[in-house]
Amino acid sequence: MSKLSLAYIFQQQQLLVDENLQLPQVEALASDIQLGTGDQVIARDLLPDEPIPPGLQLVPIRQLLQYWNVRQFEQASRAVQLLEWRRNHRFCSHCGTPTEAHAVEYAMVCLACHYRQYPRVQPCVITVITRGKDEILLAKNARNKTSQMYGLIAGFVEVGETLEEAVRRETEEEVGIKVKNIQYLASQPWPFPSNLMIAFKAEYASGEIKLQEEEISDAQFFKLDALPEIPFKGSIAHSMIMHITQGTPVADDTQAWL
Ligand SMILES: [Zn+2]
Repeated sequence: MSKLSLAYIFQQQQLLVDENLQLPQVEALASDIQLGTGDQVIARDLLPDEPIPPGLQLVPIRQLLQYWNVRQFEQASRAVQLLEWRRNHRFCSHCGTPTEAHAVEYAMVCLACHYRQYPRVQPCVITVITRGKDEILLAKNARNKTSQMYGLIAGFVEVGETLEEAVRRETEEEVGIKVKNIQYLASQPWPFPSNLMIAFKAEYASGEIKLQEEEISDAQFFKLDALPEIPFKGSIAHSMIMHITQGTPVADDTQAWL
């Protein structure tokens, strides 16, 4: 009798799950990516012309965030990012030769020049900015025209920049204000497509709100008891806003003690 593995099978950013949103069990193949030790948990691409197995459905991973616990989502996030990395590194970026997967490491190896390509994470800072004891800065994304949701200031860290510099630069670029007392809060892997969200809190220091209009359509300091629609539960932005309004911790580190 063959052994079955728990399978993260993706078509792009959609995952195969059963009607209870649980993972299927499959026989592992040589082309699967192993997650963790042994072959008990695997990641695999569902090819575009492959039929969806009976009893299973494709669900966007973003939706599962609301139903799954942090650990489940993190493993799914790891799976989808490793699959995407493998799809995008089929050739050596140095000499163009087709690559092969390394036997034990997560590395795509070039047999011609020995260059190794590892999965890469994009660091992205996200900041919750307060003014006084009862105000928080929230901004509406200009690209998201249909939604009334207000989120936090976020952006990619540039080459050669510290995380704190990235916080100051993004805030000044997007809303024109200066911040002080920047403090680290927590982090979250965010597989859309391969970011590490690094959360900070900061206090308003000076300046008037001035929007970078191609990025932000509105930004205001809201009273804590009169917030607009905010990002969904499961996102780090939601936890950061709750941290300021309710005093709850941002990182779900309770599981580390189990
Ligand atoms: Zn090469």
